Amino acid sequence: MRNEQAAGYAAAAAGFLSGAPAALLTVSGPGAIHAIAGVSHAATNCWPMLLLSGSAEVGELGKGAFQELDQVAALRPFCKYAASVPSVGDVGRVLAQALRATAMGRPGPAYVDLPTNMLLSRATPSFSFLHPLIPERVRAPAASVAAAVALLKTAQRPLLITGKGAAYSGAEKEVQQLSNRFGLPVLGTSMGRGLLPDGHPLCVNAARSTALAKSDVAIVVGARLNWMLHFAEPPRWAPDVRIILVDAQPSERDASVAAATLMGDARVVMGQLLQEVLAQGLNPSAWRPWVQQLTTKAHAATQSLARRLSSAPSSPLEYYGALGVLRHALQNLMPAPLVISEGANTMDMARLILPVRAPRTRLDAGTWGTMGVGLGFAVAAAATAHSSNPQQLVVAVEGDSAFGFSGMELETLVRYRLPMVVLVMNNAGIYGGDRRPDALAVAAQRGMQAGGFASDPSPTAFVPYARHDQVMSAFGGKGLRATSVPELQDAIAAAIHSALQDKVPALIDVILDPMAGVESGNVHSFNAPKAKL
Ligand code: ADP
Ligand code: MG
Repeated sequence: MRNEQAAGYAAAAAGFLSGAPAALLTVSGPGAIHAIAGVSHAATNCWPMLLLSGSAEVGELGKGAFQELDQVAALRPFCKYAASVPSVGDVGRVLAQALRATAMGRPGPAYVDLPTNMLLSRATPSFSFLHPLIPERVRAPAASVAAAVALLKTAQRPLLITGKGAAYSGAEKEVQQLSNRFGLPVLGTSMGRGLLPDGHPLCVNAARSTALAKSDVAIVVGARLNWMLHFAEPPRWAPDVRIILVDAQPSERDASVAAATLMGDARVVMGQLLQEVLAQGLNPSAWRPWVQQLTTKAHAATQSLARRLSSAPSSPLEYYGALGVLRHALQNLMPAPLVISEGANTMDMARLILPVRAPRTRLDAGTWGTMGVGLGFAVAAAATAHSSNPQQLVVAVEGDSAFGFSGMELETLVRYRLPMVVLVMNNAGIYGGDRRPDALAVAAQRGMQAGGFASDPSPTAFVPYARHDQVMSAFGGKGLRATSVPELQDAIAAAIHSALQDKVPALIDVILDPMAGVESGNVHSFNAPKAKL
């Protein structure tokens, strides 16, 4: 890849998608520093990852050697395990510890430092570390499972919430069985969606606020009770909700909030819960009015979205019109495409408009709200898809700002002929273009030609109508541009054909109305109130 930062995001995503740690290799000093972006992202999202970096000679620290840095100290705050290999005979032992750390309990990153002298010495291969490195899936104690089911039996308004830990563990079959058998409504977090496909009658993602606010017993599987789940606190949750937490390694805080904690692997524990519910027996008829309430709400939201999509203007394009075209183009593709989305408005709107049909087919900015992950994710996702199912399409829907962080990785996509379509949602800036009258006047004079900005551009504005498609063409990929609904329909069809049939990745520069989009997207509540000057 072209830069350690994007490669780090790729390794982090590959861990989530494949269920096993991927390794990132970097040079010493600045290479290890750039890698911290990906390592910290893996840590914050609980994804396994191994970083291997070269480093200055053992015993030389302090002399000012080439790219000298105490890398173990630099990486330690973000890693479950960080160590330097003291001598070549220790490589196997240190690697085994590092790999186990990535996957045991709560997954996360590990760091192994390989000093220069190590790289120049010869090792006798030691296979002692080839014992199973990925730990066995842990079961929850039977008594805890029985107590959790007893609690579930008291529910009037139960809810099953699936997080990315449930997706990572591959719990979809168990989740579907429990939900279908007992009519249990399921809510997915943004990357925990798809275990029950959007569109399934018991999937209540479209009634999220009501589901969270009214549920009286919530089974939370592989999701932390952090900001993304509003800390499980009122007013977003009922004050007397009782939570059954299923997690490989819950935090002390989350375990204190929960009424019952089942510590173990999500897939295994969901299977245990299913068996126990079958054994104890459960009469879900008390839930019917609740399920009815949620499905009615979800249905109304789905209808209202459909109306907005069908009434979106053809040109200038805005989010509903553009993503509506993509939604239509992807809906029947088999297997379900893997969709990456990032950028403030782009990510929020993609979450709303593009359904998640299968587990582990959606990647976004994640728990840390990291922007700039998309192209790194794209390389990992497309490489994973390419090796497991060459007909699976990968689509990255990128805000123009988010795209810019690692746009050069387009070259990597082209070089490996990955089955990839990138859409750049080009609204000439972060949240949108420069909306001051003088800037709009200058841009208008040039029509849709690149260039034309005010003499003092707003700090959130980019060059209007920049040609991202030409960057893709410059690398030998397929570059396309769309300014209206019919143009975008044609461009998406051509791009999918190019990526899947010709093995040439494609990029579509989607020219949006610079006035489309709002400041900070869905997280504007985090902004400070506007100062009164
Ligand atoms: P989301 O963002 O989807 O809400 P989080 O990243 O907050 O999800 O939480 C993921 C949780 O999943 C973490 O608490 C982690 O410990 C847990 N987890 C990771 N792997 C497993 C697994 N195999 N089984 C159960 N829980 C897991
Ligand atoms: Mg933008």
